[in-house]
Amino acid sequence: MANNQGEGPAIGIDLGTTYSCVGVWQHNRVEIIVNDQGNRTTPSYVAFTNEQRLVGDAAMNQVAKNPTNSVFDAKRLIGRSFNDPLVQSDIKLWPFKVIKSTGDKPMIVVKYKGKEKHFAAEEISSMVLQKMRDIAEAYLGKPVRNAVVTVPANFSDSQRNATKDAGCIAGLNILHIINEPTAAAIAYGLDKIEDSIGKRTVLIFDLGGGTADVSLLTMEKGNFEVKAVAGNTHLGGEDFDNRMVEHSVEVFKKRKKLDVSANSKALRRLKTNCEKAKRILSSVTETIIEIDCLDAGTDFSYKFTRAKFEDLNRDLFKKCIDIVDKCLSDAKMDKSCVDEVVITGGSSRIPKVQQLLQDFFDGKKLCKNIHPDEAIATGAAIQAEILTNGRNIIKLSDVTPLSLGIAVGSTRDMSVLIPRNTAIPIEMEKNYTTSHDNQTKILVSVYEGERARTCDNNLLGEFTLRGIPPARRGVAEVKVRFNVDSHGILNVSAKEITTGVMKNITITNDESRLSSEEIDRMVKVAEKFKADDDKHKKRVKARKALEDYAHKMKHTIKEKSIGDRLAPAQKKQIEDNIGQVIEWLEDLQLRNSDRYGDKLTRLQKICEPIQRIASPLGPPKNHKNGPP
Ligand code: ADP
Ligand code: MG
Repeated sequence: MANNQGEGPAIGIDLGTTYSCVGVWQHNRVEIIVNDQGNRTTPSYVAFTNEQRLVGDAAMNQVAKNPTNSVFDAKRLIGRSFNDPLVQSDIKLWPFKVIKSTGDKPMIVVKYKGKEKHFAAEEISSMVLQKMRDIAEAYLGKPVRNAVVTVPANFSDSQRNATKDAGCIAGLNILHIINEPTAAAIAYGLDKIEDSIGKRTVLIFDLGGGTADVSLLTMEKGNFEVKAVAGNTHLGGEDFDNRMVEHSVEVFKKRKKLDVSANSKALRRLKTNCEKAKRILSSVTETIIEIDCLDAGTDFSYKFTRAKFEDLNRDLFKKCIDIVDKCLSDAKMDKSCVDEVVITGGSSRIPKVQQLLQDFFDGKKLCKNIHPDEAIATGAAIQAEILTNGRNIIKLSDVTPLSLGIAVGSTRDMSVLIPRNTAIPIEMEKNYTTSHDNQTKILVSVYEGERARTCDNNLLGEFTLRGIPPARRGVAEVKVRFNVDSHGILNVSAKEITTGVMKNITITNDESRLSSEEIDRMVKVAEKFKADDDKHKKRVKARKALEDYAHKMKHTIKEKSIGDRLAPAQKKQIEDNIGQVIEWLEDLQLRNSDRYGDKLTRLQKICEPIQRIASPLGPPKNHKNGPP
C-alpha cells in the first residue's frame, strides 16, 4: 500500500462498468462531486472522433452517431485474456472491434483523428479515471494525486492489478484497491458496529447498469471478510431499458404502422429516452416519452407508467432476487442470520426491486439512506481519508451516530424522535401531552443514546415550556420537533398547539456531544443491556396502562350522567379504590409489570358498573406519545 502522508486531498472512485462516481472527504463528511454536466455519476464511456477524444457524458451522447469508435464496458475486459469465454461472448455484443494481441491480450481498435489506434482495457479505464480525477480537481480547485479505487469482490488478482495499472496510467497514486461491497458497508459505518456476539453478517445487493452482484460479508473487529458472492454478469439497468425500448417499438408499430426495429439510430434515441423515463419512474408513477421525428418524419409520444415498467421487467426483477437466494445457499446461511442488508447500484433505486428485496427478508429495513449509486464511492472516499490522515473518523457519513429523543413520563423514559443512523439533514416531530391534571409547564430534556431510560443516556440540554392552559392530564397537545441540519446541529422546539406558545434550544456538535469512542462504547453497552431495557419497557407500558385507566375512570365517574346512576355507597367505594391506585402510582419506583397488570385487572373489575353505564366507551384517543 502506498504511503502518502500530507500529500493533499485523496479521493474515492467507484469505477463502474457503465457509470463511475467520485467522492471526497470534506467538512467532516463525504461529498459526492458533480461533473461538468451537473451529474453525480459519469458514464464510463470513451469516444474517439476525427477531431477529439471524449470521455463521460459527452462520449455517451454521441454514441448513436459514432458507434464503432465509442468504447464502454472496459471493466468487462480489464485483466482478462482474449480467449476468456466471457470476453468472447461479450465481443459479439459490442459495436466496437476487439482483437487479439501478443500474450493473448485483447486490444480495442478505434479510429482516432483518421488513424487506426489500439488501446488496452487499462488505457480506456485510465481515461475514465483521469476524467474522475479532473472532476475532483475542478471541484477542489487543487491537484489530486491520491485515490482509493473499488473493484468487484470477485475480481481476480490480474483484474485488480490491471485496475491499479489503469490508475497509474491516469497519474494517480492508488492508495488501495477495495472491494465494492466492502466500500458500501463502510459507507454505512457498519465496520464501526460491534455486536455482543462479536460478528455481524452483512448482505450487499448491488444492481448496476449491466451487472447484478450479491455479496455476503462477515465483519469482526472492523474487518470485513467475503463469505460468498453470486451474480449475473448480464443483468441490470440496461436490460430494463431494453424492455422499455422493445415495448416502445411495438407501440410505434401498432399506432403508426412504422417498424423501427432495424433502425439503429431510432433505437439509440429510444434507449436514451427510455433510460431517462426509467429513472423518473423511480420517484413518480408516470412520465411521458416524446421524440420528434423518430422515423419517417413521425413523432413518438407515449405515457409510461411505473406499473407498465414493472410489468415489462417482472421476470428480470425476480432473477435479481434469485441471486440473493443463491448467495445465501452458497454460504449455507439462512436469511434470518443476515444482520444488515445494504443496497447499492443505480438500479436498486427502483422501488419494486427494493420492495421485492425487503419482502424476501421478511420486511427487514434496508440500508438505503445513502443514494445507492453513490454508496460505493462514499465508502471509497472514507477509506481514502482514513489512509491519508489516519484519522478515526467520527461521523462516518451524514447520519446521526446515536438516537435522539426526550425524557417522557414520571419514569423519565427515552422517547426517540430520530433513530440512530438516520441520514441528515432530517426533521421529525411527535406530539406529547401532560402527565398531571392542570399541568401548566413541561420540562423538555433532550438526550442521545440507545438505552430505554434517559438516566443511562447522555443529556444534551433542556428547557421548560410554560403557559400550557390548565386541563386534564392527556388533553394538552405539545408538538416537539427535532431538526438536525447537514452539519449535525440539532434544534429542538416544543409548541403547545392551542395557544401556540413555543420554546426552542440549539445543540451544536462539539460541546456536550460524544466522541466516537464513547459512541462505540454506548452502542455496545446498549446491546448488552437490551434484555434489561426490554424488561423496563414492559414495566413502563404496564404502569402506563394502569395509570391511564385509573385517571380515565376517575373522570368518568365524576360525570353526572354516570355518577348519579350509581348508589352513593357504591360510588364512594369505587372512587376510593381509584384514589388508592392513583396514590399508589405516585410512588415513582417502578415495579414488576405483573403487579401493574394485577392491579389493572382488579380495578377493571371494581369499575365494571361504570363501564356498564358508560358503554360503549369509544376507544381511547391514543394518538399522543405519553406525557413528558
Ligand atoms: P455500474 O453498474 O456501472 O456500477 P451504477 O451502479 O451507477 O453503475 O448503475 C447504473 C444504472 O443505474 C444505469 O442503468 C442507470 O440507468 C440506473 N439508474 C440510475 N439512477 C436510477 C434511478 N433513479 N432509477 C432507476 N435506475 C437508475
Ligand atoms: Mg457499480
